[in-house]
Amino acid sequence: MTPDIDKLHRLVDLVGAKLNALPAIKVGVLDSYQRHRQASETALNELAASEGARWRSQGNGTTLRLAGVVSGSTMGSAMAMQNWLIAANLRITKLEAEARAHVCEHGIRWPWACEECDRAALMEDRP
Ligand SMILES: [Zn+2]
Repeated sequence: MTPDIDKLHRLVDLVGAKLNALPAIKVGVLDSYQRHRQASETALNELAASEGARWRSQGNGTTLRLAGVVSGSTMGSAMAMQNWLIAANLRITKLEAEARAHVCEHGIRWPWACEECDRAALMEDRP
């Protein structure tokens, strides 16, 4: 696994958990819409504080940038997070495909470990 892929997997889990924790919208209950929106904005603020996410809500919608993945929605901040999940999963698929295509100088294809590369990395770590 490359660091980018690991980070995106972790953030997909985190954003998914935050979405699942949002209070449900009850059709026709005005308060539930407001609680849902406030909770999703709180979740975005938490992502900004802990993960460096940047988000903005304007009249024409919400945009979210997290770990280099940008998403937007005109259907509210929770939908922007949902769209971020879709975009992040696409990015993961693309990065994993690229990683799989990687073959080291000894002809070992990712994700198989190459003993030669591991030994070289170990030597570099030594003082
Ligand atoms: Zn190698």
